[in-house]
Amino acid sequence: MSTAVRPSAFTEPDRPKNLQIRFMTTGGSFVDVTGHGEHFDNNSWNCLGCGDASRSPERDGLWRIRPDANTHATACRAIPLK
Ligand SMILES: [Zn+2]
Repeated sequence: MSTAVRPSAFTEPDRPKNLQIRFMTTGGSFVDVTGHGEHFDNNSWNCLGCGDASRSPERDGLWRIRPDANTHATACRAIPLK
């Protein structure tokens, strides 16, 4: 089985102004990491597929938010409904 990332079957939504990273999920949706970036502690992630989001903490440095967002993208099988 190929592990190559394939393009999403869904249209990529508009990119918010403060978007730092967008991960494609296993289900073909997207997890957005937004905030002010590497040297700020106000970054967060939210999943456009299932609606889950970062918490505990809700906002933190990119170094902490990034791996959580990537892990969620790998696990999430929800498809975008909008
Ligand atoms: Zn999700």
